[in-house]
Amino acid sequence: MKQEKLKPVKNELERLYNYINKKHKLELPSIIIHTQSQGRSKNRKGWLAADSWKSGKSKFCEVNVCAEYLNNSFECCNIILHEITHLYCLTKKIKDTCRGGTYHTIKFKKIAEMLGLKIKKRYPSIGFGETFLSKDLKKDLISKFKLRADVFDIVRIKNKNKNKTLIKLDDSFYILSSHYENLIENPDFYLNKLSNYLNLNFQQKIK
Ligand SMILES: [Zn+2]
Repeated sequence: MKQEKLKPVKNELERLYNYINKKHKLELPSIIIHTQSQGRSKNRKGWLAADSWKSGKSKFCEVNVCAEYLNNSFECCNIILHEITHLYCLTKKIKDTCRGGTYHTIKFKKIAEMLGLKIKKRYPSIGFGETFLSKDLKKDLISKFKLRADVFDIVRIKNKNKNKTLIKLDDSFYILSSHYENLIENPDFYLNKLSNYLNLNFQQKIK
């Protein structure tokens, strides 16, 4: 049932990939479009995994649109175009990220803008970060591509991160809920660990 529900979304993302590929004559290869969860990386919207699938002797790249964004049609388009930019850079051997993948390069920015994306600067002096759709690209997707916004009506619910809830013990002392359970179950073990940790930190400081 769930898979059936995902099919129209995946088809629409694939149709978009082919449309952009053809429109800009990028000559990009066939890819696998996937919709996995972003997992623990809360800010992650999508990714490109080079040559991660195989069929016979052919290898395929995977473009993943994080399932937590599937009910936002324009955001999904942004993710596909963002990963197309990375894939284009990969095929042309253009360096698209810097500082260990933290930022996008100016070369990435130019290609992204050529495809109709806009890109935000993380900080005034360094690195380009997130992309978003320009007004012109949105218009093009609506009038020419005829984006089927109605198929984007399914989404993966974001992780609530149960273990990361803080429990207040007094005005200045908070504890992670997962640790709290340990503390209640085995206070001696926990307090021993805590005192070892504090002792260690104290000794490191006075060295
Ligand atoms: Zn990127």
